[in-house]
Formats: sequence, structure tokens, C-alpha cells
Amino acid sequence: MKEIVLAKYGEIILKGGNRARFENILMSNIKNALRNVAETRIRLAQATVYVEVEDESKIDLVAKRLSMVFGLVAITKAAVCKKDIENIKAVAKEYLKNDLTAGKRFKVEAKRSDKAFPYKSPQICLEVGGYLDDEFPDIIVDVHNPDVTVKVEVRDFDAYVYADENRIQGQGGMPIGTGSKATLLLSGGIDSPVAGHMIAKRGVEIDAINFFSYPYTSDRAKEKVITLASILARYTSKINLYIVPFTEIQLQIRDKCPEEHMTLVMRRFMMRIAERIARQNNSKALITGESVGQVASQTLAALDVTNAVVDMPILQPLIGMDKLEITDRSVAIGAYETSILPYEDCCTVFTPKHPTTNPRRINIEKSEKHLDIETLIERAMEGIEKIEVFPE
Ligand code: ATP
Ligand code: MG
Repeated sequence: MKEIVLAKYGEIILKGGNRARFENILMSNIKNALRNVAETRIRLAQATVYVEVEDESKIDLVAKRLSMVFGLVAITKAAVCKKDIENIKAVAKEYLKNDLTAGKRFKVEAKRSDKAFPYKSPQICLEVGGYLDDEFPDIIVDVHNPDVTVKVEVRDFDAYVYADENRIQGQGGMPIGTGSKATLLLSGGIDSPVAGHMIAKRGVEIDAINFFSYPYTSDRAKEKVITLASILARYTSKINLYIVPFTEIQLQIRDKCPEEHMTLVMRRFMMRIAERIARQNNSKALITGESVGQVASQTLAALDVTNAVVDMPILQPLIGMDKLEITDRSVAIGAYETSILPYEDCCTVFTPKHPTTNPRRINIEKSEKHLDIETLIERAMEGIEKIEVFPE
């Protein structure tokens, strides 16, 4: 019996005139994602990607990898049948014997996209359902509340059988590469990797920037950021990570600005530098991980002050989310365990005791007057280290 992986993509996205472009990008992303996983043959028809895996022992790995590709909504393994009702029955019996165990309630759902197939969908259900009911005397037909939904799909070349409950949910969203590029400010925390994932999910390619204050932040902290980038890269294929030396800027801020303004002045430097790096790399927006009110620098007044120095869109996808929701997403994308490693971040090293929560632009600008902003930015830009990060 031959097994195949069927991956389905959302149909909403196909409503525009961009279908062919969308499909080409999706196919190339899938090939790329599977390149180092297994030898496969891939084709696309009827909003479904058919993935045949040379070495069938790798089929679960392939399915898991596909569940990280944006644009796919569902991934399922299925048994391949001849387009012959007797063969469909026999394959269903053999393939689903571990699902249709004693006491299980089941129903059959059929879909016939090959209209030349002599049985219509309701007839396929009756035929296959009746047969399975006879062959497995301890299972019960229940069309309203089944434990197992047996799916039969009669398609162009073959028919396919699987249990719907074994389907893996896909990422949804749009294929990377359909939505230009944005630049993520990636700290070592929980929030920014989640923010990056959410924007990538809309088809946007991601560059990342980390501000790094050696020796106040250690090499382990840098490794942690690289690991987080490689976790994001599982979804986006490759991430260019720019490590920006930030020590000089932070020391100057510490020495020359009022303590309660330190964080915001520092945040404004990050945003200015990020915009320059983004523009140099044809990136159209910045992404950050704030959520309103989470900390002093994330009040609306503080966000106003921070964002005022940038003249490009700043995407803040977590802005209305609670910490708990963000944490759930962090776990789901596989970043949480890395994010909670206790290495210091450049912000935590220079945190004031009493940061201002209701800042005004004019006061922060006054505090910045003591600094040579342009020279500091230029020196930081000169020290940038670029790392190409690939999936872990
Ligand atoms: P995170 O969990 O992402 O670290 P946070 O709750 O700690 O976020 P802040 O420290 O206020 O929040 O930072 C807000 C945002 O600024 C972060 O989500 C991130 O996008 C960016 N940021 C903060 N520190 C850094 C850094 N060292 N390098 C790059 N970006 C940073
Ligand atoms: Mg942080």
C-alpha cells in the first residue's frame, strides 16, 4: 500500500487574479523546506499539493515540516487507491484498521472531483461505509458525532483514503515571498520572536536586528538570539541577522541623560538604526514586540515618543494581546524554551529604577541634546555584524 502526503492551501487567497503567482511561490517554498528532509516528488492540482516521499519512513517528518510552511492550512497522510470502488474499500480496510477499533463511532465523507467516476459522492459513502461496517463488526455508524471520519477523495489520477482526525493543522497565512520584506527588532525575550512569526505568516520575508552590548551582555546572550532567529527561520527559510554594537550608545546615555529617560532615549536609538538598516536592505517596515501597558516603555505615551523618530510603518502585531496569549504562541512556534533562558538582554543591564511612564516628546528631545546622535549612529552602523541564519 502506498502512502502520500496531501497538503491543502486556503482558498480565500485564490479569489484574486494572483493564483498562479501564489502557487509558484508556495511550491518553491515547499521544495525548499523539504530539501534537506527527504527525496520527494511534488505536484499541485485542485488546491492540493501532492507530496510523494521516496523513503516512506520519512513521511511523518515531511508532514511535520509542511506544517511549518505558511500558506498551507491542512496536512494529512493518505493511502493511495486505484479509482475503483473495490480497491478503495480494500485499501480503506487495511489503512484504517488502527483507527476503526472496537466501539469507535464513524462516518464516511466522499468527494469526487473526477466526475467520470461511476459512483457519486453519496453512493461512495454508502458503499465504503457499508463495507467497513461489515468488516469491523465492533464499530458503529454515527454521522452526527463520529470519532473517526473516513475521507474518500476521488481525484484526477488516483483516489485517496484517510481518517480526518489524523490531519495536522497547517500554519495558514500566505506563502513567504508574496508580501515583500520587513525588519524585526529581535531581542532575546518572549515577545519579539512571536511578533516576527505573526508578520511572516502574512507572507512577509523577515530580516532581524539585535542590539548587543558586549561585554554587558555575554556571548551566550548572542547565541540565544541566533538560536531564536534559527527557530523563526524554520518558517521563513533564511534570516539575515544584523548584530549592532550598542555599548557605546548605552554608556553615553547612562552618563549624559536623566535616569528616568534612559530607556526611551535608548529605544529611539534602536528605532533610528533599525530604519537605516531596513532602508539599506529594501525592507518596507519595522516589526517590534510591544503590547500596550506591558511595561513602562509600552504605555501609549511612551510608544508615541519611541516611534516618532521613524518614518516608516512600525508593525506591532502583539499590541492588543495579553502576556498569556503571547506565551501560548511562543510555545506553539517552538521559541518559548529558548526565550526563557536567563541570559541578560542589553535593556535589562541599563534599566532605570523609576522610568517615566507618561513622557512627552519635547522632554525626551531635550535629554537627547547632550548626545551626538548622528556620530553615535554612524559608529554603531560601522560595527554591524551580518549573520545568515538557517533553520535549526
Ligand atoms: P521582548 O520579549 O521581545 O524582549 P519586551 O517585553 O522585553 O519584549 P522591551 O524590552 O520593551 O519589551 O522591548 C520592546 C521591543 O523592542 C521588543 O519586543 C523588540 O522588538 C525590541 N527590542 C528590545 N530590546 C532589543 C534588542 N536588544 N535588540 C533588538 N530589539 C530589541
Ligand atoms: Mg525584552
